Amino acid sequence: MTIEQLLILIKPDGIKKSLTGNILTKLSEAKMIIIGAKVVRVSRELAEAHYCQLKDKSFFSELVDYIQGYIYGEPWNRVLAFVYQGKDAISKMREIVGSTNPEEADALSIRGSYGRITTKGVYENVVHCSSDISDAEREIKLWFQPKEIIDSIYATKKILVNNEEKIIWA
Ligand code: ADP
Repeated sequence: MTIEQLLILIKPDGIKKSLTGNILTKLSEAKMIIIGAKVVRVSRELAEAHYCQLKDKSFFSELVDYIQGYIYGEPWNRVLAFVYQGKDAISKMREIVGSTNPEEADALSIRGSYGRITTKGVYENVVHCSSDISDAEREIKLWFQPKEIIDSIYATKKILVNNEEKIIWA
């Protein structure tokens, strides 16, 4: 058993469907703790960096629009981002989240309960969940600054910005 961290995003469709409470309740079954949480307006740069491993897929451009929430407009164009921590957190949380394709996901999982495939073929699966330890580290460092997480989970370093000390990921 190892203590792991992972990134969970409640995507814009989850926000629009007012599912935040339902999703957090389901995730709480894994008995993990939250060590970072915030609401984020997702820039194109962040969206593309988050999904960089999928940049050659045919659905990449729709995916980038989806995570930014363009299609939903105000006030749904945002995500809630969480860092969870606990024993074997990634496998436990991915089981609760369910398979990528919401039509194939277990009916009791979050994606099986609340996800859909749009007529344009976008998998609106309401949540993102890191898939392994290295993706989790990459994603957490992309979405959160060290000071936004209440535990020290990865190495950091101090730099000077305009003569002020700043702590960034090492
Ligand atoms: P996961 O989110 O389960 O880790 P991926 O990283 O493979 O899965 O995909 C990222 C996101 O891209 C998915 O959550 C889903 O919203 C979207 N997606 C994945 N595969 C497809 C597909 N074949 N068609 C449309 N959208 C997809």
